[in-house]
Amino acid sequence: MLAALLIACQLAAPTQLVIRSGDRTVNVPVVSTAAGEGVRADLLGPALGAAIRVLPNGHYAITLGGVALDVAEHVPFVRVGDAVFPLAVAPSLVNGRLVVPLQLLSDVLPRVSGAFAYDTVRDELRVTDTAAVHVAVVDTLHTAANPPPPTPSTRNPKRRRLVVVDAGHGGPDNGMTGPIGKGPKVIEKTVTLAVAKQLASALRARGYDVLMTRTTDTLIALSDRGRIANAAHADLFISVHVNAANPNWKDPGASRGFETYFLAEAKTEDAKRVERMENEAVKFETGVHAPKGDPLSFIINDMAQNEHLRESSELAETIQSSLAQVHPAPSRGVKQANFSVLRNSFMPAVLVEIGFGTNSKDAAILTSASWQARIAGAIADATTRYVKGYERRVSPQRR
Ligand SMILES: [Zn+2]
Repeated sequence: MLAALLIACQLAAPTQLVIRSGDRTVNVPVVSTAAGEGVRADLLGPALGAAIRVLPNGHYAITLGGVALDVAEHVPFVRVGDAVFPLAVAPSLVNGRLVVPLQLLSDVLPRVSGAFAYDTVRDELRVTDTAAVHVAVVDTLHTAANPPPPTPSTRNPKRRRLVVVDAGHGGPDNGMTGPIGKGPKVIEKTVTLAVAKQLASALRARGYDVLMTRTTDTLIALSDRGRIANAAHADLFISVHVNAANPNWKDPGASRGFETYFLAEAKTEDAKRVERMENEAVKFETGVHAPKGDPLSFIINDMAQNEHLRESSELAETIQSSLAQVHPAPSRGVKQANFSVLRNSFMPAVLVEIGFGTNSKDAAILTSASWQARIAGAIADATTRYVKGYERRVSPQRR
C-alpha cells in the first residue's frame, strides 16, 4: 500500500507512541518489522483497555478503548464494523506477539471513534473522552519487574516503494494487431513488453523497486497479475496496453492518442469497448483461481477497492498529464473502466493505453525504441510526482 509512505518518509519515525488519557500517559515503544513501524498490541492493554482474541479463522479481534477491530496477519486491512480500511503495514507476529501498524492508532482509531485524537507533532494518541473509553491506566511498563523493552535501534525510514509493472497480454494472447493501412506492424504483446521493460528500468533509476508480471512472451492470467502484486505487497500497479479502434467507426484508422484508466464501473460506450477488449484475455486462460471463500475476503476486496479509487484516479491523472508533455498524439483523457487486471489489485492501480496500434502514426511511435523510452520515462516521472503528492497528503509524520 502506498500508505506505507507514512512511515517511509525521510524524517525519522517516532521511537515511541505516547498515549495520554487525562493526566496519565503511557509510552509504548515503536518497533520495526520487516514491513515497517508498528506497536505490540498487547502493550496497548494498560493504556487502552485492549483485549486480543484469536478467532477460529485465524484473524485477531482486538478491542481498543471500546472499538472492536478485526485484523489478520499479513493482511494490510482492518475491519471496523462494516468498514474496511487499508493499512500501510500489515499486522504481523514478532516473537509470537501481534504487532499492529502505528496507523491503526494514528489514523483509523480517531476516524472511527470520537473518543480519540492523534497529535502528529508529538506522536501522541489522546483519549478525549475518558468516560467513553474506560481506560484503566496501569503503569506496568516501567516497573523493575517489567522493564520497558529496549528501544529498537534499527529502522527502515527509507523503505523503497515497490511498483508492479504489468506488460499487457503475452503468449497466445497477442492483444491487438495493426495498423490499419500503412505503417510498421504492431503486435500489442510485443510493444507492451518493450515499454514495460523500459518503464521498469526508468523506475529503478528513480529509486523504486520494480516487479514485472512478465519479462518474456508468456501468458499470465489477468487475476494472477493482481495477485502477484498483492503477494509482493506492492505500492502501485501500472498496466501497459495498446489501444485499437473499433472497426465500425467511420474512419477507424484515423483514431489515435493515449488514455489512462483507473478502476471503476465503465462509464462511456468507448470505455466499455476498451474494457471488453482488455478483458478478452480471460478466454486464453485455463485454471483461473476462484476468490477465496472467506466472506471477509470479499468484503475486504470490495471495500479496499473503494478506498483505492481516489488514489488510482489521482495516479491516472498524473500519468496522463505527464504523457501529454512527450506524446505527439492527442490526449484522450483519464477514463474509468472495470478491468479484470485492475480489479484484483489491492493498491492504486492504473491501465495505460499508450497509443492506437490501428493508427499508422501511432504505430510508428509504438514500435520505435526511442519513443518507447520517452513514454516509459514520462510514466516514471508521473509515478514520482504522484508518490510525492501522496506523501504530502497522507503522512502524519510530516513536520
Ligand atoms: Zn491490451
